[in-house]
Amino acid sequence: MTQTIIVVGAGHAGGQAVATLRQKGFDGRIIMIGDEPYVPYERPPLSKAVLAGEMELERTFLKKAAWYPEKQIDFRPNTLVTSFDRRAKTVTTSHGENLAYDKLLLATGTRVRKLQAPGAKLENIFYLRAIDDTLAIQKQMKPGAKVVIVGGGYIGLEVAAVAVKTGCEVTVLEGLERVMSRVVAPEVSEFYDKVHTDAGVVIKTGMAVTGFEGHGKVERVLCADDSSYPADLVVIGVGVLPNVELAAEGDLAVDNGIVVDEYCQTSDDNIWAAGDCTNHPNSLLGRRLRLESVQNAVDQAKTAANAMCGELKEYAEIPWFWSDQYDLKLQIVGLSEPGDEVVIRGNPADRKFSAIYLRHGQFVAINAINMIKDFMAAKKLIAEGKHLDPVKAAEAEVALKDM
Ligand SMILES: Cc1cc2nc3c(=O)[nH]c(=O)nc-3n(C[C@H](O)[C@H](O)[C@H](O)COP(=O)(O)OP(=O)(O)OC[C@H]3O[C@@H](n4cnc5c(N)ncnc54)[C@H](O)[C@@H]3O)c2cc1C
Repeated sequence: MTQTIIVVGAGHAGGQAVATLRQKGFDGRIIMIGDEPYVPYERPPLSKAVLAGEMELERTFLKKAAWYPEKQIDFRPNTLVTSFDRRAKTVTTSHGENLAYDKLLLATGTRVRKLQAPGAKLENIFYLRAIDDTLAIQKQMKPGAKVVIVGGGYIGLEVAAVAVKTGCEVTVLEGLERVMSRVVAPEVSEFYDKVHTDAGVVIKTGMAVTGFEGHGKVERVLCADDSSYPADLVVIGVGVLPNVELAAEGDLAVDNGIVVDEYCQTSDDNIWAAGDCTNHPNSLLGRRLRLESVQNAVDQAKTAANAMCGELKEYAEIPWFWSDQYDLKLQIVGLSEPGDEVVIRGNPADRKFSAIYLRHGQFVAINAINMIKDFMAAKKLIAEGKHLDPVKAAEAEVALKDM
């Protein structure tokens, strides 16, 4: 009998999963349901080249729209899955349909964390998660506009870089003591702070935003220290929350993400989950975690699709991410922790250096800035659990791959 796989969420993981299912030769019915109006697309360019007007929207699409009917994938945009019934094996959509599945994949991703502050609903206050957010921000980001960015994480700083290049007056308000503090070493934060400041961005750290003022549209951002910042538009980037409510209501195990095993299987034998929405084990890291990255979305989607086709391949990858700001490509491999020894290779003044993280001598993570070779070598060495001599590791003239 023909099997039906339903994929909930048409983001990076959903899009990759349906592609892998067909590549593996799954010839049953595939229904992919997404609440956005677009075919699955890559989000990274939304705060980078697309926002800067340097990349056409269509280039973000994982596959062209025609590919889905060609591969007999029943793609249903603008449709929210409102619930599923594990016993009946059906999902219910916002259009009132009940669709039967044999296997279900939840790829529901994350949503932005919203600031609950007075005035937060004024016009021209934006978040950045989807294509329509980028288009709305782009429309307001005119030369001379006063742009206030709340949150100095990588999305906030990418937007700052584009905005200042566009000729806007840009202020970044970061709550913690340094920018990108969740993902990079103090030396790297300091470098990025200087790069942005040199480009004309005003960076304020240790700032708690308490509210927004304006008549209809935002005009000012208010902070706890009584300072205020004039604004024509505000972009808020203060993190995301996993979309787990659907899974929780369906009685699946949820704990900061949909709980899955190393094959992306949930607590139900017929349901898998992949991408930003999962809490998954990683034997290379020796712990469970939830990640927000393209690498994780792609690799988990492949793992889940393989498992749905009966091929069990454990998900165990060293995480990697990137961020593009100005002429700088920041590539991060591994997950650093406070207390790791940080070794700097190269000179930040050359806009080309790496921060290497050693834990009891073991190479666990890297922040490589315009150091593509270090990034490539680090992926392999970190996965191997390589130990490095900190003095040698600092010698940028010695290739990392030869250590
Ligand atoms: C601006 C921006 C820049 C980024 N830059 C980088 C970067 O440089 N490098 C990097 O590694 N990562 C980056 N990321 C993160 C990366 O895009 C995500 O990790 C990735 O998109 C996760 O894919 P996903 O499929 O798990 O989730 P998503 O891409 O969020 O897709 C989930 C989809 O499911 C839909 N959905 C949710 N619930 C339902 C439902 N009940 N019914 C129907 N549809 C539903 C959502 O609307 C969404 O379309 C960036 C993200 C953003 C927003």
